[in-house]
Amino acid sequence: MDLTYTEAEQAYRGELRAWLARTLPTLPPVPDPADWPARRAYDTGWQRRLHEAGYADVHWNADPTRRLIFLEETELAGAPYVGANFVGLLHAGPTIAAEGTAGQRERWLPPVLRGDEVWCQGFSEPGAGSDLASLRTRAVRDGDAYVVTGSKIWTSHAEVADWCELLVRTDPDAPRHRGISWLAMPMDVSGVTVRPLRTLAGTTEFAEVFLDEVRVPVANRVGAENDGWRVTMVTLSFERGTAFAGEVVACRRTLRELARTARETGAWDDPVLRRRLGRLAAEFGVLWRLVQWNVSAGAPGVGGSVLKLRYSHARQELYDTAAELLGPSGALDADRPWTADRLSSLSYTIAAGTSQIQRNIVAERILGLPKGA
Ligand SMILES: Cc1cc2nc3c(=O)[nH]c(=O)nc-3n(C[C@H](O)[C@H](O)[C@H](O)COP(=O)(O)OP(=O)(O)OC[C@H]3O[C@@H](n4cnc5c(N)ncnc54)[C@H](O)[C@@H]3O)c2cc1C
Repeated sequence: MDLTYTEAEQAYRGELRAWLARTLPTLPPVPDPADWPARRAYDTGWQRRLHEAGYADVHWNADPTRRLIFLEETELAGAPYVGANFVGLLHAGPTIAAEGTAGQRERWLPPVLRGDEVWCQGFSEPGAGSDLASLRTRAVRDGDAYVVTGSKIWTSHAEVADWCELLVRTDPDAPRHRGISWLAMPMDVSGVTVRPLRTLAGTTEFAEVFLDEVRVPVANRVGAENDGWRVTMVTLSFERGTAFAGEVVACRRTLRELARTARETGAWDDPVLRRRLGRLAAEFGVLWRLVQWNVSAGAPGVGGSVLKLRYSHARQELYDTAAELLGPSGALDADRPWTADRLSSLSYTIAAGTSQIQRNIVAERILGLPKGA
């Protein structure tokens, strides 16, 4: 991995920095985190501006260095990140780009880049989370459509999504990993019911999705029928390997703010706290190198599990440290940014696959340890 910047890359950084300085003051106020329709409008509005300025496809860019520069500069400037566009931009879109037909890429990718369409992820079910291959939502072929019946849970952004990357069982008699298909399902069709769930932080970030004889065109299947598990591995490698890249950078900024606050309040005099901040700085330094490595690799494969595992725990430790700095008043006021971030950080070791599952993957597929030992 070459970490030096060419003149063209440095020029790109300079232009981006200047564009951000001009554009950020013109953004509307950040919406209430509990108001998902307003957040959708804000996040897609930001994506539209990126599109007009030629930066929209940066997460899909063949040039990983530009993507890394984009992450660094947008975070440094305090620009919005992907928000409600998380699934479309960071894992459904890249999956369609890698596995879709030319027609599917043409249909689904430009609206994501323009900020016109938002995606959600319908993988987990009440009986299929860590053990995803036990999913039961059925899709029965009827002419040129699948008729889908079942339910999904923990579907982030379902309340405001136009499309869902949906896993369904198309062959109930096949071995369980071999009877699954990956579909793009429109969210506004008959038979789809979304029931929002409230999180610890009080927002309806995710939802239950009930599917009652929903007709999804066969043409919306990405990959071959019953080959959805392989396509799912592509999706998960993006989700775990590169989707959190921007958040790693954001955590580094929070860490700098924590150090500044510690100096201002005198907490810096505590050697235990200083050592914690130092260890976190080292940890996030390593995580940024892992991000560089995964982004440079394109589709990061099981290496994504290493990043996801380390990052989710480091994030929790970061916000635990922030809570200590804020003291009891911070714990009581969920509107303070670090407090809300601390509450949401608790979910990071579960979402996108629990730590136990990531450790299993690292043990079996990277270290080559025996299964079930
Ligand atoms: C904030 C948030 C957002 C989410 N967003 C989405 C989304 O948009 N779309 C979506 O499809 N899903 C989403 N999820 C769901 C998430 O992927 C699942 O919660 C996760 O995969 C765990 O599944 P589960 O909740 O069914 O727990 P379970 O699978 O029941 O696991 C319970 C516990 O048992 C452990 N365990 C289970 N099996 C093993 C094993 N073989 N070895 C060791 N330990 C094991 C688990 O690690 C865990 O600690 C989200 C979750 C959260 C918290």
